[in-house]
Amino acid sequence: MPSQSQGIPVAAAATAEAKRPAGEKSAKEKETCEAYVRNGLHRNVTVQFLYERLEQLGCKPPENLIRCLDCRDSQRGGGFGVVEEIDVVGTTGDNKKINRDDSCAQRKKDIDALLAKQRDSVTKLRLVPEIYLCQQHLRNETHAHEAMVHELIHAVDMCRTKMDPIKNCIHLACTEIRAENLSGECHWLREMQNGRMFTDFSGHGAKCVKRRAELSVKANPNCADKAEEYVDAAFERCYKDTFPFDRHPNLR
Ligand SMILES: [Zn+2]
Repeated sequence: MPSQSQGIPVAAAATAEAKRPAGEKSAKEKETCEAYVRNGLHRNVTVQFLYERLEQLGCKPPENLIRCLDCRDSQRGGGFGVVEEIDVVGTTGDNKKINRDDSCAQRKKDIDALLAKQRDSVTKLRLVPEIYLCQQHLRNETHAHEAMVHELIHAVDMCRTKMDPIKNCIHLACTEIRAENLSGECHWLREMQNGRMFTDFSGHGAKCVKRRAELSVKANPNCADKAEEYVDAAFERCYKDTFPFDRHPNLR
C-alpha cells in the first residue's frame, strides 16, 4: 500500500519552500529524505528483505549505503554507484576519487571525460557500490522507498554477477529492466498517479518497464546510441527474472 507523505499539505509546503533561501531549502530536503531512508530501513519489508539477501550473498551493505544528495539539475530520483577513476599509470595504486562530495550524480560530461581517458588506457573505471537518492526530486515517502528498492536491485545484481554496466550495455539494460520491474515504479496505480493515462491494461507494466529502462540506459554515454536495441535484446530474459524474490513482489 502506498504510504502517505508526511507533514504539511503539499500546496502549503510549496509556498513555504518558495520563500526559503536556497541553502535552507536544501537542508530541509536532506532532512526529509534522510527520514524517508530511516523509515525505509526500519519499516519497509522489501527494503529489509533486500538488505538481508545482500548479506546472505556475501555483500553485507556498509553502514551508510544509502545517502541523500543534492542532484541539482539532474532529474533522477536516485542512482547506484559512483564511477571511480583508478590511475593505472601511477605506481602507488592510490585511487583518485572524483566528485565524491555532496554534488551528487556525476554529470554526463564528467563520465564522458573519464570514458575518453579509459579508451586511451591511462585509467580504469570501477563502480563504487553506493546508493544515492536525489533529495529534491522525491515526491513522497513511497517514491523514496521505490527508489531505494530500485537501487538495491542494482546492488544485488552487482553482487551476484560480474556485471559491468559501464562497458556492457546488455548488462546495464538487464539490471535496469529488473530494477524498474521489481521496484513497483511501474505499478499501474503509480502510473495513474503520475498522470499517464493508458487504454491498454494488458502489457502495460511491460511497456512502462521498457520505457523507463531505455531512459536509464541512455544515461550511460557508452550505451546511449542504441538504448532501445539493448533493452529489447535483454527484455525477455530479464523481465521474468525476479531474483531474489520468488515471484514479482507486487503481484497479489
Ligand atoms: Zn537504475
